[in-house]
Amino acid sequence: MAIRIILTIPDPVLYTSSLPVTSFGRDLRNLVRDMYDTMNKANGVGLAAVQAGVLQRVLIIDLEHQGFRKGVFINPVLLESSGEQRSEEGCLSVPGLSVPLTRPKKVVVEYQNLSGRTERVEAENLFARALLHEMDHLDGKVFIDLLEPDLRLAHAEEIEKIKQGIRIEAVPS
Ligand code: ZN
Repeated sequence: MAIRIILTIPDPVLYTSSLPVTSFGRDLRNLVRDMYDTMNKANGVGLAAVQAGVLQRVLIIDLEHQGFRKGVFINPVLLESSGEQRSEEGCLSVPGLSVPLTRPKKVVVEYQNLSGRTERVEAENLFARALLHEMDHLDGKVFIDLLEPDLRLAHAEEIEKIKQGIRIEAVPS
């Protein structure tokens, strides 16, 4: 069991695009295991490898308790999206903030599994939201940057505090 440090804003790594996974071996399995340990410790429902400082297109989701599924999605590609849903969204890299965000209600995503085999998943509601949220991370996007301007303004102070919290921790004593 290895818990990795979860990067938080404004860490520049979070704003970097991840690279496609080309090797489906032991390193990848170890990374995914660490990601599960890290996510579970933080009580999250999703995590992208970049949040653990690894710039590879890997994400995990665990929504079993919410009636959806648990899984690892490698090199995911959005094939279709439809409808609209709006609900509160949060992120382990933006600790403490929860803001409503509009996203597609239904998506179809193609991805590779741990063995490298291509698969497809249809996701709705919270599962679709989680997939889209984590896929954004792989493109170097954090959900607060997708908020409507007025909401972003309304939460600007809170976001700034979260960012400053990180800077203060980073100052050597
Ligand atoms: Zn996130």
